[in-house]
Amino acid sequence: MKGFILRLRRAKNEDLILTVLTEEKMADYYRFYGARHSILQLGYCIDFEEERDSGPFLPRLRRVSQIPFHWLYSRNRLMLWQRFVQLFEPHLRDTQTLERFYFDLLFEAARRWERQNPKRIVCETHYALLRHEGRLHPLDRCYICERPLEKEVALMQALIPAHPGCIYGSALPREKLETFFDTGKTTWLDDDEVERLYTVSMRGL
Ligand SMILES: [Zn+2]
Repeated sequence: MKGFILRLRRAKNEDLILTVLTEEKMADYYRFYGARHSILQLGYCIDFEEERDSGPFLPRLRRVSQIPFHWLYSRNRLMLWQRFVQLFEPHLRDTQTLERFYFDLLFEAARRWERQNPKRIVCETHYALLRHEGRLHPLDRCYICERPLEKEVALMQALIPAHPGCIYGSALPREKLETFFDTGKTTWLDDDEVERLYTVSMRGL
């Protein structure tokens, strides 16, 4: 099966414990150190088999191969990717089975990562996730004081809108945010605005 490595912890003797998001679940796996094993890093998409005869211990990873993306060799793109995928583990923790949606969402993001601005992809992927989970707040009232929003809107974690004065946050033009919320595309936001939106998204899903 295929999966993204969302978390990677060292165990004894250079062994690893990996948290992997597959098409149907997020699970922990044990990976024994082997000199000839390929090196695994946070964020990699891998193809693997799971070995379940390990009794009370974690299932083991077998026959691991990496699904290659060109941008893995670009230090900056890889770093941005690793920061982004780390947000998924706390978000999906405590869920037993998952819809395929989450794997597909990350796979699509990874596919686009080479050619497009990664920060825009983060914003658009985060939006798609909130929309899918029914957590998008309409841009009409401030979450804090509940009064109508004006021309400038600040966003809290999970893109919850507020008055810039109510949360001391940097503001974005409401009209542009509405277009983003309608289309899921950042096309109408300039790079500076995307940077602000990205900062909010990276606070957590
Ligand atoms: Zn307010």
